[in-house]
Amino acid sequence: MSGRLVIAGLGPGAEGLVTPQVAAALAGASDVVGYIPYVARVAPRPGLTLHATDNRVELDRAAHALEMAAAGRQVVVVSSGDPGVFAMASAVFEALETGPAEWQALQIEVLPGITAMLAAAARAGAPLGHDFCAINLSDNLKPWALIEKRLRLAAEADLAMAFYNPRSASRPEGFARALDVLREACGDARPVIFARAVSTPEEQILTVPLTEARPEMADMRTVVILGNSATRILRRPGGDIVYTPRSVPA
Ligand code: SAH
Repeated sequence: MSGRLVIAGLGPGAEGLVTPQVAAALAGASDVVGYIPYVARVAPRPGLTLHATDNRVELDRAAHALEMAAAGRQVVVVSSGDPGVFAMASAVFEALETGPAEWQALQIEVLPGITAMLAAAARAGAPLGHDFCAINLSDNLKPWALIEKRLRLAAEADLAMAFYNPRSASRPEGFARALDVLREACGDARPVIFARAVSTPEEQILTVPLTEARPEMADMRTVVILGNSATRILRRPGGDIVYTPRSVPA
């Protein structure tokens, strides 16, 4: 059988949010490759080899997956959420671009998944109902100055924003600085949603005005959504709803 490489998104956590396409790809896989906690979400079975690696070696992991596919294996690279959102799909194509000739003819397919911001937005209501952007707040792969520039320009464009990788033990200061920049650039009390471990048993959703947002409200399992200037909160007995209207008056 000729080898094949599938790059699949496992969604935010809940089994019901794994697409049938991704479930079918996993059922037909000989090898699953990915970061340890994501590979742990794939059920072991005879004939399936699980290759769980540390997150810091994305390109090595991608090359390993391409090598196995070139050797005839049915390889699935897994990411959480969607594999094209701050995840493995780009890493695989980066490795492919500079890789050996035998990789170039490989059959490669990307299968989408439900990304964290969409799962979080659905829990909160519809905060991304108008124009929005997604920004990775980790400065592992880009300079911090670029992050700040993008935050200011997104605020100037009045986009709602979703923030991935907001805060980690190795970067405790970055998110505090991001909040300062946003408070200065937005200058209002628009809602901020801290959505942690969405769709898992540890899920926590907290909505506060930007003026009251604190760095400790986020960790690496949190996606943060900031509304635009029109985002509002509907107070209801069953729980508040945060939404952004579909239209902007002329
Ligand atoms: N490819 C993933 C994102 C990888 S970056 C996706 O599409 O969702 C990792 C970041 O995603 C985390 O730091 C966090 O900001 C966010 N994230 C992933 N799963 C999450 C979940 N279940 N709940 C909240 N945020 C999540």
